[in-house]
Amino acid sequence: MSQGKRVVFVFIAIFIGVVALFIAQTLDDKTITPLPSSPEGEKNLPLKKAVSPPQKEKPIEQASGKENEIESIPAPDEIEQPQEKEKKQEKLQQKESLPITSKEKAPKDGWFYGKILPHKGFGEALMAIPGMQLLAAMEITNAIRFKVDLRILKAGEDFKIRFSKDGLKIDEFIYSPDIVTHYGLKRDKKSGKLLFLETLLPTEKRYRIIKGEITTSLNQALIEREDVTGTIRAVTNNVLECVVNFRRNARKGDTYQILLQDRYYKGKKIPGAAMLYTAYEGRRTGLHEAFKYIDGDDPKSAFSAFYTLDGKALIPNALRLPVDRVHITSPFGWRIHPVTGRKAFHAGVDYGGPTGTPIYAAAKGTVIDVSQDRYSGKKVILSHADRTKTYYLHLSRQLVKVGDSIKPRQQIAKMGRTGRVTGPHLHFGIKSGAGKWLNPLKKHMIATPKLKGKRMKLFSKQAKHIRWRLKHTKEIQLINNLFNEGPQPEGFYKNLPEDF
Ligand SMILES: [Zn+2]
Repeated sequence: MSQGKRVVFVFIAIFIGVVALFIAQTLDDKTITPLPSSPEGEKNLPLKKAVSPPQKEKPIEQASGKENEIESIPAPDEIEQPQEKEKKQEKLQQKESLPITSKEKAPKDGWFYGKILPHKGFGEALMAIPGMQLLAAMEITNAIRFKVDLRILKAGEDFKIRFSKDGLKIDEFIYSPDIVTHYGLKRDKKSGKLLFLETLLPTEKRYRIIKGEITTSLNQALIEREDVTGTIRAVTNNVLECVVNFRRNARKGDTYQILLQDRYYKGKKIPGAAMLYTAYEGRRTGLHEAFKYIDGDDPKSAFSAFYTLDGKALIPNALRLPVDRVHITSPFGWRIHPVTGRKAFHAGVDYGGPTGTPIYAAAKGTVIDVSQDRYSGKKVILSHADRTKTYYLHLSRQLVKVGDSIKPRQQIAKMGRTGRVTGPHLHFGIKSGAGKWLNPLKKHMIATPKLKGKRMKLFSKQAKHIRWRLKHTKEIQLINNLFNEGPQPEGFYKNLPEDF
């Protein structure tokens, strides 16, 4: 092979690899389905369309001289002439006001603005930028996906891009989920690679209490308020429904209360308040309170949720982790199969552990299969109310029989190494009602229905802070009302202790 040919070959191989990665990711993302009525689920917009494959690419044969064959001559609208392409790029760069969707003005020449589109993926939003090349979009996606959770993008979020002079590469990319959070990629001149940069501007936290009386229902009362977003309403309903039987016990005159934390930057409120507390009090219901627990520094912890004061989790429909100890040995998606050595789609998650480890039901359901085969080994399949099914494979012992009704987190089996496996583990799978494998790692799953030990201690401390905050926020709101002062200047709350 000549040097030139080798370079071309290597380039093609890399290109195919990158395309495969990109498509695999898109396929993976397509399987996200939000958990019904889960507050976190709302953020996972189902991605309905895949990014279109590269259609403008020349067939590989063209490089090896087949000019005379009719088939290899592209239709004029398929391939743009290089000169035309360059001209187009120049035009696009000069025309700063092209499809700029953000209200924000460009800080300097050459910035292109984009937005995350409803029900579309990150790749599609990138490809909507004029002049964007597929390779450039893939480079951005691959440079940012390990740093930023691309599954939680929300429609309307901004990003901006600056192209290189030839218009083919990205020089700079900035994605801003809000006005204080900026994730950037910048081309390093020496290495030619995109470097990741993260900027979090300091914010001021302010608190407010939303409270009122019920006339018809809690949901209706919240709908009627302008200061309650759909997310806050959903969380409040979901949390309180765990402890209050609204249909039977709600009465006119019952009261509700919500404590919110807003973040401000230079006097401007950042959308998306954090909810720290909610309560419902009624003649028949009594008082029910829910406190937000933040599990250490990790915002993605499965333990961060709403709990009653005695540590009981308040997440309806959340799946229980099927094991006590989360040790993932193989995630969902494409992988090299550990036994066959071939590329295969892994339609679940593998949790490692010793043979005999208790396996729990991820949700309330009915046993529809207890069987054994040479691939799955001993397995149990449960069917759930929302038509999803959960699969538990490679078991050493099955502790249930077909037709049994199962409670959430009820032990149904013991971990084993039956079937085509290399060692003991649980293969846990979730199939949608439509028969599609879902990624369990993208489902809202909680570790425990009740906090214990160190976590319970930390939670009690946090609940105390919330109580303190409730009392003082009430006082501040009372003063505001008495003197009708309107919005407070920046720093008004600074004398109060820092948030936990
Ligand atoms: Zn598996």
